[in-house]
Amino acid sequence: MSPTVVTTGKIDSSLSPPIRAEDVPARVDRLLADAVAARASDVHLRPTADGLEISWRRDGVLSPLTMWPKDWMANVVARLKVQAHLLTYRTELPQEGRLQTETPGVEMRLSTFPTLHGEKAVVRLFVASGQYRLLEDLSLPEDFSSSLTQLLHETAGVFVVSGPAGSGKTTTAYACLREMQRASQGARSLVTLEDPIEAELPGVAQTQVHRPAEFTYPLGLRSLLRQDPDVIFVGEIRDRETAATSFQAGLAGHLVLTTFHAGSATEALVRLVDLGVEPYLLRAGLRGIVCQRLLRQLCTCYPATNGCDECWHTGYRGRRLIAELMQPSALRTGTSWSANLSDWQAAAIAAGMVTLEQRAAHEVAAGRTTSQEVFRVLGTVAPKNSAPI
Ligand SMILES: [Zn+2]
Repeated sequence: MSPTVVTTGKIDSSLSPPIRAEDVPARVDRLLADAVAARASDVHLRPTADGLEISWRRDGVLSPLTMWPKDWMANVVARLKVQAHLLTYRTELPQEGRLQTETPGVEMRLSTFPTLHGEKAVVRLFVASGQYRLLEDLSLPEDFSSSLTQLLHETAGVFVVSGPAGSGKTTTAYACLREMQRASQGARSLVTLEDPIEAELPGVAQTQVHRPAEFTYPLGLRSLLRQDPDVIFVGEIRDRETAATSFQAGLAGHLVLTTFHAGSATEALVRLVDLGVEPYLLRAGLRGIVCQRLLRQLCTCYPATNGCDECWHTGYRGRRLIAELMQPSALRTGTSWSANLSDWQAAAIAAGMVTLEQRAAHEVAAGRTTSQEVFRVLGTVAPKNSAPI
């Protein structure tokens, strides 16, 4: 595979003589095909005073590709909008739609947004078949995997997967659900409430919440409890009511799996308290909090300075999950629920939690990533002498 999109330079130099407006659709199709081949997660088309700036996000990093001429702009966005069945003549409102494409196994969603210089378009790519399917595909360390698997055998309580946006929380949650489905062989009733449903999970009854119709997470959860579920996946806790209802369900004899936006496991705990979840609900219901990040992995061409075609000359290819797991039951009794972040962190480490920083240091020491990448993702430099993992 070699890049067919010009990756440097301002104006696409392969456009000489200038291509005709009717050739624009073919250009757009080729850009999307390249994005699929490069395993990009998003393609950004941003109008500027000089032209349409094209960039894509691969392995979590946005990089500029090229600039298309200004007079293409309207045709490019119109081409995408037609494919997504959006209203081409409405350019002053944001629109969203699913792109109809020829590429099997890849779903693309288009969103448009009016800006000063014209409509900005972002195409999000979802690889339906999924590189990661089961927990064992996530290449998690042995000690982490076994603690996680034990948690999934719990019959009640709440298990939280946390991390920042784009850290792969849903992938981990889906892998947990697949693991539970596989282990139970149909003996557990698995249900979900999601917004949106990102992939189909065989053997799981998945439901999309619909906020405009007031079919919200709390309402859906209360109704689901009458459906005799064993395991409930709540797509994301964003508000107090969803949090409280999830913990009540956990205490009522269901295992609730959910995701939550937080930078560390202890931060997730403190934020749940701040969100107003009663300490008694947390104490009785919380089984574990995972917090995770994705680190770009070095390509096999490393340390070649210019990279190779396989890594699109970035030196990195694919990402690897690192995660920490805090289990409140392992913390010494007496830790006050009003404790601050650093007290919780100290208590979790004393109870044996291997932190994200330690996991990252291990990845650097094993030659799978670089300390620059750790700094980019965690904002800290990996300690040189990390504790053995
Ligand atoms: Zn390479």
